[in-house]
Amino acid sequence: MNNFEYARASDVADAVRRIAADPAAKFIAGGTNLIDLMKENVARPSRLIDITHLPLDKVEETKDGGLRIGALVPNSDLAHHPQIEARYPLLASAILAGASQQLRNMASTGGNLLQRTRCFYFYDTTTPCNKREPGSGCSAIEGINRNHAILGTSEHCIATHPSDMCVALAALEARVLATGKGGERSIAFADFHRLPVDTPQTDSNLRADEIITAVELPPKGFAGNYSYLKIRDRLSYAFALVSIAAGLELEGGTIKAARLALGGVAHKPWRVPEAEAQLSGAPATRESFQRAAETVLRGARGFGHNDFKIELARRGILRALAQAARGTPQSQSDKRIK
Ligand SMILES: Cc1cc2nc3c(=O)[nH]c(=O)nc-3n(C[C@H](O)[C@H](O)[C@H](O)COP(=O)(O)OP(=O)(O)OC[C@H]3O[C@@H](n4cnc5c(N)ncnc54)[C@H](O)[C@@H]3O)c2cc1C
Ligand code: SF4
Repeated sequence: MNNFEYARASDVADAVRRIAADPAAKFIAGGTNLIDLMKENVARPSRLIDITHLPLDKVEETKDGGLRIGALVPNSDLAHHPQIEARYPLLASAILAGASQQLRNMASTGGNLLQRTRCFYFYDTTTPCNKREPGSGCSAIEGINRNHAILGTSEHCIATHPSDMCVALAALEARVLATGKGGERSIAFADFHRLPVDTPQTDSNLRADEIITAVELPPKGFAGNYSYLKIRDRLSYAFALVSIAAGLELEGGTIKAARLALGGVAHKPWRVPEAEAQLSGAPATRESFQRAAETVLRGARGFGHNDFKIELARRGILRALAQAARGTPQSQSDKRIK
């Protein structure tokens, strides 16, 4: 590990001042990702700005009936918050599908958004990686790419975003609140993370002088009909090969509104509004779900070891939508759906 300085931010304005003054500095919250990256010599911050004492640990109602989640609310507290359990169980399920209890106790809401990819070449400093060292090449495209992306890839990077929580936040149309030198702004979740294009080193559209202060959820939580389906190599303590967050609003057997987001398949949570529009007004049947799956996966491309993800994602979408339609969010057979 390299030497670094340590400073504790006294308030949000102080945090912004400190990060703006030193482009090589990093905020530290739970430290569950950043410290690993520092130990592996992947991240080499000149200074850690400790934000854990800032008053960003509340879950509060917003004026429009949604919820505002402070950036320092730990993942476990959030998953078990009564309002989240009752109104946004999709989010609770996604969080509880990730990491372990100990990690979730430490992991913060803001840090979860900015956790970095689990591409093993990114962590292996002996191999080329455009995300770690821009211009050096991508070892995964011709290498072992079983865990890599099938959608939104570029010739420079095929990494995936590893978060479970973010897949649910994308489906719920959350917003990210950030404060920087220019004041506070609210970023639609779909615009927060980036595709790799030719700058894979940049994961998000957060500016260098900004701190995430909160995530806001709109009032609609799809609590009656939802599913978070995570498919992985082990039943626990593993990142998603493919995950699906599905939320439906039903009237009789007809879908009034639908949300669908995928994890493990792209550099950001993958959402295709056209597929949701197709579901809206359609009967809640396998045929409708199939059509939506084809739309979501249009343009999907494997790189050899990860070709299986295309079919896995297609089947996962059918299963998650079927579970959501039945109101049985946990993994079950979908035989009862016509
Ligand atoms: C073994 C293991 C297994 C895991 N499994 C899963 C899994 O299955 N699913 C899953 O979703 N996650 C998983 N995780 C990841 C875990 O959820 C993240 O490491 C965690 O959410 C990061 O939060 P943190 O507060 O610890 O972030 P930190 O490590 O403190 O920070 C991460 C990044 O965010 C930045 N940052 C933090 N807070 C802010 C803020 N408020 N504003 C601006 N920048 C900020 C930091 O500068 C840093 O760059 C796993 C982690 C480990 C170690
Ligand atoms: S996929 Fe991205 S993170 Fe992985 S080696 Fe290629 S450039 Fe690096």
